[in-house]
Amino acid sequence: MWPLLAGRVIYPLHERVLGRSTFRYWRDLERSQWSSPDCLRRLQGQKLRDLLTHAYRNVPFYRARFDEAGVGGALDDPWAALSRLPTLSKADIRQSLSDIVWRDAPGGVYESHTGGSTGEPLTFYFDRRRQAFDQAARLRTHRWFGVQPGDREMYLWGSPIERQRHAGFRRLRDSLFNHCLLDAFNLSPAHLDSYLDRWDRLRPVCLFGYPSSIVRFAEHAKARNRRLDTRALRAVFVTGEVCYDHDRAVIANYFDVPVADSYGSRDAGFIAHQCPQGRMHITAENIIVEILREGGSRESATAEMGEIVITHLDAYAMPLIRYRTGDIGRLRRGRCTCGRGLPIMDVVQGRSTDFLCLPDGNVRHALSIIYPLRETKGVRQFRVVQDEDLRVCVEVVCDEQAARLTAEAVAGRVRPVLGNRIDLEVRFVESLSPNAAGKHRYVISRARPQGKEAQHV
Ligand SMILES: [Zn+2]
Repeated sequence: MWPLLAGRVIYPLHERVLGRSTFRYWRDLERSQWSSPDCLRRLQGQKLRDLLTHAYRNVPFYRARFDEAGVGGALDDPWAALSRLPTLSKADIRQSLSDIVWRDAPGGVYESHTGGSTGEPLTFYFDRRRQAFDQAARLRTHRWFGVQPGDREMYLWGSPIERQRHAGFRRLRDSLFNHCLLDAFNLSPAHLDSYLDRWDRLRPVCLFGYPSSIVRFAEHAKARNRRLDTRALRAVFVTGEVCYDHDRAVIANYFDVPVADSYGSRDAGFIAHQCPQGRMHITAENIIVEILREGGSRESATAEMGEIVITHLDAYAMPLIRYRTGDIGRLRRGRCTCGRGLPIMDVVQGRSTDFLCLPDGNVRHALSIIYPLRETKGVRQFRVVQDEDLRVCVEVVCDEQAARLTAEAVAGRVRPVLGNRIDLEVRFVESLSPNAAGKHRYVISRARPQGKEAQHV
């Protein structure tokens, strides 16, 4: 009874009160996923023309860009116009933040922060339309695995928004929605024990979280000889970091349900999700994916590896037109055997994170230190390195436009995460070099979990 009430009444009502047409968009997405690739391409073309027209009329940053590229407001062929526009980097957004926002977006404009995959903090804005489309896309992919709105969902997650703002309200909302949020930033054996108990009380229909955290949860259950009640479970959804094959195998073996990976980010949106056949389908109704070839060639190419560049067709408050994600992938030819017309892609290298180890045997998810650092004013880029002896060094590149940052200020942000028993050094550097693959890893730990308790998790 409660799942029906949560899924058919409370959740839709909540979306309507917030001014989000999530459920209407979802119904459209349920239909359009079976459209032919040509039909989806036409839909993208129409939405692209609307988006470009809006950007030219209402967003000074894009008006200047379109004029410079010789595109102007002539948008009869939106695909040709798109291909002539330059790509949008995080640096572009940072430099032109006030000129790239449409303040009159219906339902208001909301601010958020992200580090993306490069560890460089970024402020961005979104509107209700974009939120609703991203939500609707998520609902659709859940249903691919038989998970309906209102079903019991367990989240092993650690987003700062869920953690800090309106914690009481969110707890109430979660319980009304049949959701249970467990803190993925705190994975001590005692916490994991309490998560096992929560699991058995909830008996979730799906589990959602960082693959590395879910692996720790599964391995802890095994070490405790706990056989969780997974009779209701339909799928495990992993996101937020690279899901390595060995991690996927651990999760699939323990929970004995499909493991589906997704690709997206707070700034870029809900880009792609695996179907039950294991193919990564692009949310083509909302997102255009292009692959930037090496050397910055602006043509998109099929089957070639390159940087993933997206255009979000429903982001109106801050249009993302040819936005460089910093992630590497390729488009795939052909259709998936599941019958959906949504194009498919491979994400070859997404984000990769590590755990930080504390002297008491506790571990901290990398994001628990990434979030406070990227929201620190004056931090342009950072890297956290932990040695085998647990010593932590935070390397910081300062934002020249901001006031001079002190080591004490940086330390003050990370101490609450690491506690007082760890040697901490803050080092200001001119630049941070990426690794051999061209990616910036923002947390690197060479330490192993301490103490007896931690050895079997
Ligand atoms: Zn498929």
